[in-house]
Amino acid sequence: MNEQTSPSRPAGTAAPIARLIEALHRLPGIGPKSAQRLTYFLLRTPPAEARALAQAIIDVKEKIIFCSICQNVTEKDPCDICTDAQRDQSMICVVEEPLDILSIERSRSFRGLYHVLHGVISPMEGVGPEDLKFQELIARLRNGNVTEVIMATNPNLEGEATAMYASRALQSTGVRVTRLARGLPTGSDLEYADDQTLARALEHRQDV
Ligand SMILES: [Zn+2]
Repeated sequence: MNEQTSPSRPAGTAAPIARLIEALHRLPGIGPKSAQRLTYFLLRTPPAEARALAQAIIDVKEKIIFCSICQNVTEKDPCDICTDAQRDQSMICVVEEPLDILSIERSRSFRGLYHVLHGVISPMEGVGPEDLKFQELIARLRNGNVTEVIMATNPNLEGEATAMYASRALQSTGVRVTRLARGLPTGSDLEYADDQTLARALEHRQDV
């Protein structure tokens, strides 16, 4: 008996079902019970619907690239935000992950440009500034159009350290570096902030 039986694969589960349960279980926020429920739900789904879901996942992997300017995920390069002439070209809001842009856009409180670092400085996990998209950010400041960089990293230890690093690294460029105001729950993620809190934090941002 080499077949492993894990909590998500009780004996007698057909291999394709077990594979889907395992795959769903690897997603964030999906426990073994949820993975099982989703799998049996998908079993009852009409084939066309299941195929559409599978295709949507494949499309995301094959058609989505990083914008060469802001490093956000996009279908075309440069992305829609970078090419939008209506947006304020003098401000760049720096975020940790592409998902953070969704939260800020939803708050409708920012009409400038973005820059995605793809992570935060974390000595504990061996992530330094050189592992993030800082060089790409500094390159964007060279044309002199940008006057302010807003550090919208999360209000936790790593987020603060990253904002501090940015303010030092950008000092020589003469660009003003600001930080989201307090009011965001400390230690939490931007993703979970409500629109009003986020809008207020942007409005009352402070120099770093
Ligand atoms: Zn872009």
